Amino acid sequence: MKQAARGTQYLVFLLAFFCGFNCVASAPTLTITSAFDRLQLDTGLEYYEDVKAELTLQQVSQEKDWSTWNQGTVNFGFSSSAYWLRCTLANGAKTDLPVMLEIAFPLLQRVDVYVGSESGSFHHFQSGSLLPPNKRPLVHSLLVFPFELPASSSSELFIRVHSNSLLQIPLALSGAYAFANYDHARSLFFGGLYSLLAVIGLYHCLIFFSVRDKSFLFYGLFSLSLSFGFFLLNGSAGSYLWPSNPNSSVRTYLIAQLLATFFGMLFIRSILNLPQSLPGWDRAIINLAWLSLLLIPACLFVAVSVVTLISLVLANVAVICATITIVKRTKEGYPPARYLLIAIVFTAVGIVVTVSSSLTVIPTNNFTIHAVYVGLSLGTMLYAFALAYRINLERENREKAQNEVIELQQHANENLDQLVKERTLELEASNERLREISQTDGLTQLSNRGYFDIAFDKELRRCIRNGRVMSVLLLDLDHFKQLNDRYGHQFGDQCLRAVATIMIAKTRQPPDLVARYGGEEFVILLPETDLNGAIHVAENIRQSIAEYCFQHNDEEIRITVSIGLCSAVPDRSATTAAFLKTADDCLYLAKQNGRNRVECQR
Ligand code: GH3
Ligand code: MG
Ligand code: MG
Repeated sequence: MKQAARGTQYLVFLLAFFCGFNCVASAPTLTITSAFDRLQLDTGLEYYEDVKAELTLQQVSQEKDWSTWNQGTVNFGFSSSAYWLRCTLANGAKTDLPVMLEIAFPLLQRVDVYVGSESGSFHHFQSGSLLPPNKRPLVHSLLVFPFELPASSSSELFIRVHSNSLLQIPLALSGAYAFANYDHARSLFFGGLYSLLAVIGLYHCLIFFSVRDKSFLFYGLFSLSLSFGFFLLNGSAGSYLWPSNPNSSVRTYLIAQLLATFFGMLFIRSILNLPQSLPGWDRAIINLAWLSLLLIPACLFVAVSVVTLISLVLANVAVICATITIVKRTKEGYPPARYLLIAIVFTAVGIVVTVSSSLTVIPTNNFTIHAVYVGLSLGTMLYAFALAYRINLERENREKAQNEVIELQQHANENLDQLVKERTLELEASNERLREISQTDGLTQLSNRGYFDIAFDKELRRCIRNGRVMSVLLLDLDHFKQLNDRYGHQFGDQCLRAVATIMIAKTRQPPDLVARYGGEEFVILLPETDLNGAIHVAENIRQSIAEYCFQHNDEEIRITVSIGLCSAVPDRSATTAAFLKTADDCLYLAKQNGRNRVECQR
């Protein structure tokens, strides 16, 4: 029966450690010498269960049914019984020894310590979380009892513990100086730990306000809850935060633990992207988180032992679920999960070391006692790495996506550029074509009169500026009306095209310009060509046309042309109209003089 009770106690003990909030101590000796420094009282003690919690010291000391405690840190689990512990402290030194008895679990509600004297009377100390710090034997974050062991004598020590909290009783006995040293180191350690976690927590909460990524908020609040939980668990909070209402400590501690579970779960699902990656596990984790939150009001009304047990089970199930999802995500190759896995391993190693030391499996020392806190703190800091890594990962993905969009845009722009270039070329070609059409005579494909007028004007001004010579030829086919009348308009058109081809062949274009002036009249501009040159060109054309033989229904037909010519170095008063007038006059003269001839003004 007792064995079974022990088993249950261990189970509760292990659960409490797994949750990561519990502090233990170990290693015993009951004989004090002058070399005495600090002893963990976890073996060689006797204990008695006062089921009704009503026995006095006198009654319990007469009881015969005491059992021996020999297996590490004293822990009775949850019980409504009062538990008595006793041992005999023998001072082997030749001087009185001031000692400090310390219980490093300040959530215990009521602790009575009785130290026997040689006269047989007992000195009674009272402490526990129900007592305000100033009513305790020593104002301290732990439960501390200072007393003196007279030289070369033995004193009986009785400790009575009655509490609705976990009945964990990590006992240690120190010399006064050793206690001061230990207390100093402990204050530094826990002070550093609370501050570190609190600063990390606050820092990530602040980051959340600028980054708006909920993972930061959940992590920050998780870290703050953890820090506050440690602060309460190690007794400091009860002493400093609400000295007038110390009973709040244990309930507030439970709230901190539930909040840590709640925010821890939200952090895990958010950092691992569980809703998308593992929806089934995500549902389990979110349910655990809400369950933790719903349990918070119960902390204020329901029995502490019940809420503690439920919240411990909840926290452990949550840790197991979180570990499974972390392992799954690591296997999937999600990089931030690796950091979380290492963090969990750190925490687990801390828990195993501390639990092992409290069960005296491994030696008990300051490191093994506090390994759980070191593991938890290192783990918590690694969560921050995971968070930073995830942010980095998301930033890289965002940049990659942005680059892809930019590349697509660039590609689209290049295509657009190409399209615009092609369209512009097509447009330019069409414009060119339009311009050519607007400047070209449809029948002969020579320049038309409009184009000729502009070009002629330009050339005239250039010649005026440079004092250069220029010539203009005006050509008119002879008796063309008769030709049309006799052989038809189509044949006339054919002749006009042939004449155009001859004129083109007999001139140099550019700079010469041949244009249809209207009907069967043509005009030729000869820049930089003097009178002799122009006569030469005109005669050449006249002769070529006259010699050209047109075929019409096996009939050979010849046509002739009359040419009027004007050649001059134009002065400032010169106009195109005057030039053309002179050429026209000469053409008229050519007609007058019998046609098929060139006339010029000499
Ligand atoms: P002249 O020797 O005095 O110049 O006699 P002509 O018949 O050539 O003179 P006129 O100016 O009286 O007649 C010009 C003729 O040219 C009128 C028209 O039949 C013909 N003609 C004008 N433009 C075209 C054309 O585009 N195609 C054709 N087939 N004939 C044209
Ligand atoms: Mg004419
Ligand atoms: Mg004519």
